[in-house]
Amino acid sequence: MKTIAAISTPDAAGGIAMIRISGAESIRIADEIFTAANHVKVSEMRGYTCAYGTVSENGEQLDDVVLTVFRAPHSYTGEDTVEITCHGGIYLTKRILMAIYLHGAEPAAAGEFTKRAFLNGKLTLSQAEAVMDVIQADGDAALRQANYVKAGKLGREMQQISDVLVDLMSAFAYWLDDAEECPPELERSGLIEKLHGIESQLRDMSSRYQDGLVLRSGIRTVLLGKPNAGKSSVMNWLCGTNRSIVTDIAGTTRDVVTEQVKIGAFTLLLSDTAGLRDTDNAIESIGISQAYQALDTADLVLYVVDASIGMTDDDYEMIRRCADRRLILLWNKTDLSESDPPQLSVLCLTLSAIQEQSTDRLEQMLRECFALTETTCAAPLNERQNLLILRAAEAISVAVAAAASSDELDMIYADLEQAASYLRDFDGGEVTDDVIDGVFSKFCVGK
Ligand code: GDP
Repeated sequence: MKTIAAISTPDAAGGIAMIRISGAESIRIADEIFTAANHVKVSEMRGYTCAYGTVSENGEQLDDVVLTVFRAPHSYTGEDTVEITCHGGIYLTKRILMAIYLHGAEPAAAGEFTKRAFLNGKLTLSQAEAVMDVIQADGDAALRQANYVKAGKLGREMQQISDVLVDLMSAFAYWLDDAEECPPELERSGLIEKLHGIESQLRDMSSRYQDGLVLRSGIRTVLLGKPNAGKSSVMNWLCGTNRSIVTDIAGTTRDVVTEQVKIGAFTLLLSDTAGLRDTDNAIESIGISQAYQALDTADLVLYVVDASIGMTDDDYEMIRRCADRRLILLWNKTDLSESDPPQLSVLCLTLSAIQEQSTDRLEQMLRECFALTETTCAAPLNERQNLLILRAAEAISVAVAAAASSDELDMIYADLEQAASYLRDFDGGEVTDDVIDGVFSKFCVGK
């Protein structure tokens, strides 16, 4: 395999930049351009050691750098690898990279280092995919999910389920070959129960995919409530700016104002909407219909009520309409009223939006709404992973139906085999080169 090189840090000026070379020629190339201050040759350096020195090209010193050596197979890619950390100038970094190319390295394609790690057995396919999710994580929730998969935990769960299926298939093979009696693990009702359990485990995992997407891409959150309840004030509290116009004239927010805000581990894509009320004003009514549209696609509703007025029939009606949504009731203007919030089976935050306060209690409630546990981390990270889980669940449900209806239990062998094969593909299994290329084409160059 060719020796490849790329700049692994962003294409921008910074304090330092890092260039990675991987492949059999990497140590020779490094020796040709690098002179260590202590005069040790790169070829004499042990793995996991670094040296300070200079990089030169045609006798011209380009920079002083730190060079780290990784010896195969103990490197990210599994190959001999050299990493050069230099000053982070865009031109300088490219000059050093060019010098490396001139000494025989080829430009690395997108994701090629990670692809080699996969091909050399350093990472499974799901772990390799998760590397990109770790890089792109923009909050605790996203990072935790990505790290769960990157640690190989989800892949191992798939492997364990696949092992159970393979055990069942072995029992079938044994039975079909020469056994007179049906082995105990193939006893019909126990078998159906076991397969049912596996199917629901897989379907649960898949259902967490959507939640995972929401946590990674931001929780689409709509602020609803009657005019003047304090929605815009809540928006401004959460954004820390005067993003929405706050007045005491009912109907001031006439369009939908959207902001991305971080609440601890969570990213909210927050839409302030026109207050919900019947109106004759044409512009305001467009805003209200946009509010209903925002509700249609919302992952979370923050429903604001003016505590000094209390709950009205409209508020109860709106909260009922949101029954299939995650909803937090914001019992606002508590500086004006000491009335207790209503006894509803929804989370309720008491607050005064115009007063300075932290968002800690809201974050706590978001944690309750979008439970962040080990279990919720066990979710597929992308469409490929989710599809394999769903297909495996589907094959098992076909097996369950066959086991329940047919006398010929061995009919389900092929379904189990199919399901096990989908689960094996989760970590690479027998996936085609096209699938592998598709996975790594989404990576950045240098990773
Ligand atoms: P919206 O129509 O629901 O967006 O309500 P606004 O945020 O525009 O607020 C309506 C009025 O209530 C404004 O005069 C705000 O200053 C006031 N307001 C909002 N929240 C509070 C609060 O917690 N306490 C008090 N006293 N006034 C508030």
